[in-house]
Amino acid sequence: MLNTQTQWQTLLPPGSHARQTPTAVLLLLLVALLATACGRDREPAVAEAAAEEPTAAEQQPQPDAPAPTGVRADGTFRIVATTTQASDLSRILTDGVPNIDITPLMGAGVDPHLYQPTESDIRAMNAADMVVYSGLHLEGQFDAVFAALREQGTMIYSLSKPVKDAGFVIGGFGADQNQSGTDDPHFWFDPRNWELTVADLAQTLAELDPGNAAAYTARAEAYNAQLRTLFTWADEGMRSVPEGQRYLVTSHDAFQYFGAAFGWRMAGIQGISTEDETGVGDIQRTAQFVVEQNIPVLFVESSISPDTIEAVQAAIEAEGGSVRVGVRELYSDAMGMPGTFAGAYIGMIAENVYTILQSYRCAGAPAAIPDWPDSIDLRPPEELLAANCETEEP
Ligand SMILES: [Zn+2]
Repeated sequence: MLNTQTQWQTLLPPGSHARQTPTAVLLLLLVALLATACGRDREPAVAEAAAEEPTAAEQQPQPDAPAPTGVRADGTFRIVATTTQASDLSRILTDGVPNIDITPLMGAGVDPHLYQPTESDIRAMNAADMVVYSGLHLEGQFDAVFAALREQGTMIYSLSKPVKDAGFVIGGFGADQNQSGTDDPHFWFDPRNWELTVADLAQTLAELDPGNAAAYTARAEAYNAQLRTLFTWADEGMRSVPEGQRYLVTSHDAFQYFGAAFGWRMAGIQGISTEDETGVGDIQRTAQFVVEQNIPVLFVESSISPDTIEAVQAAIEAEGGSVRVGVRELYSDAMGMPGTFAGAYIGMIAENVYTILQSYRCAGAPAAIPDWPDSIDLRPPEELLAANCETEEP
């Protein structure tokens, strides 16, 4: 019953979903990618039948629809961004460009799988020159609105599309066998995927607003250099935990890409969407798995109720076992409050790494946290650097 399949699928070794045979179309992409991405030690996954995601042709408005407006005659350019990640990247790439207006729809702590666009959201998207969204059905309640906007010629830009096109989307997940072709939408959790998105969004902005093309390109290059440094820092820290102990147990399956990037195994109580239901069987199975694998910590996600994690902890304690909950919540589908460290993508990834490694250290597992790189503009706050093992969340 319910999504019992998902949990066990997610316990496969990291990256195992990425070893499938490329299709003929993807071979071309693969060749292009290998030529430009030497040193990347991961293999592109096959793009499964992409029924849900717009194709390259669909991403652009239909031929008989009005052309996208781009910059208006008065020089203004209105962007609406759905998720916190979409808002953050839109702000970073347009920083310093005059007359850009960005409207964020979802705030910190909001679950994008369940978020319903409000009337004012729809009004904002109607008036936008470009809507930036995550895609792969992360914003599950937006399908009808997006279809209508596309029809009227609004530029709807999917942040996941360049990652899908490059073959790095992890597919084959589903709440049940009928949905086994579902793509995992949490692609941003591998910073190397986010680099592809950064470059592609900058190029799209440059095409729509050619007068500021040089600014978009320069922002993207500078930011991607920081993302590469972030990746190296996070990779060193996450791999300091001995391989057999690298398990991340969370409320839902948001961390497949994160795990594949840094060599960790994942187990989510819910599937890849919080729209899936959680049953008693899911709680029991997770509890049993945690005990069998001697996993010391469970993590609550900031955009999801702690109920299921608490239920797993209670089930383990009822059997006389014990398990800790992380020293802080993890950011999964929503980032932190704007203006805070975790309100920016780099800080969000970094805070998760600090939280995981500190929590493992509190549980007695070896974990080394590398010094924060000086070349990253954003600095972690002092209180993040010293975790108190006595204060557990929730
Ligand atoms: Zn999610």
